[in-house]
Amino acid sequence: MTFDEYLAKHPFLQESAKVYNSIEEAVSNLTKEKLAVPPEHFLKRIADEGLPLLQEKAVQEKVIADSAVALEKIVQEIKNLPVTREMQETAEILAKAFGEKKELASALMELIIIQDMERLSEKCKEISVAEPFILLVGWNIVSSILPGEIKKRTVWEKVKYRRNYCPVCGRRPVMGQLRKEANGKARFLSCDGCHTQWPFDRTGCVYCGNDDLRKIEVMEPANNEKIRLYACKECKSYLKTYVEEDEEEIFLRDWATMHFDILGEEAGFHKQGSVIMG
Ligand SMILES: [Zn+2]
Ligand SMILES: [Zn+2]
Repeated sequence: MTFDEYLAKHPFLQESAKVYNSIEEAVSNLTKEKLAVPPEHFLKRIADEGLPLLQEKAVQEKVIADSAVALEKIVQEIKNLPVTREMQETAEILAKAFGEKKELASALMELIIIQDMERLSEKCKEISVAEPFILLVGWNIVSSILPGEIKKRTVWEKVKYRRNYCPVCGRRPVMGQLRKEANGKARFLSCDGCHTQWPFDRTGCVYCGNDDLRKIEVMEPANNEKIRLYACKECKSYLKTYVEEDEEEIFLRDWATMHFDILGEEAGFHKQGSVIMG
């Protein structure tokens, strides 16, 4: 199934598709992959020591500087995109504020990248902009600057990275995927911020580590074989999981599968790792 066919079948997603796709496209037109792929021994160290790539000082400084430049440019473009009126207004406020405060764009990108949600929240209040917007645009920029190679699950499988946060940016995963491997199914997690995929234990809760399977509830949406929700009764989180292969472009996108979230939310569980929810 192509993305367009999927959207035709799910007309309620078309407005979101316009917003997400147009921002993604505009960001990728304005940015280039700026970071070189680190050598394997560097990736191995991330796997062994657990410090994500973007939390390495030198890498972090470069990404903040590059993404701040992109942020200043993209807010000028938003008014021409088919996004909501509210987003266009937010972009205008930001464009004006960037003109007045020279360091503002890099201060915002720094708070996004170090994931200091408290200070980001304060800063957004100070300049009267909506936080979800700045998070969505900010993470799109970070993702666009990173080389595609570093986001591949095979890269992290090779160096045996198996932690419950993203090896590239450090965010908690937003979704999972079960894939067929030689010894049965293997689980991979995916990041809503930088879109990296990495391997993790096949069972148990990815958020709190609960491995008592009696406390994991598996929810299957009606009329859909491709998505399951693994909900943990211990920490009340659920992991939306794509249980097939080859349609990752659709079924590993959090926004394109948002109608499945209702199942988890209505049962009293919560999503984690979503960019716009902080
Ligand atoms: Zn990430
Ligand atoms: Zn849990």
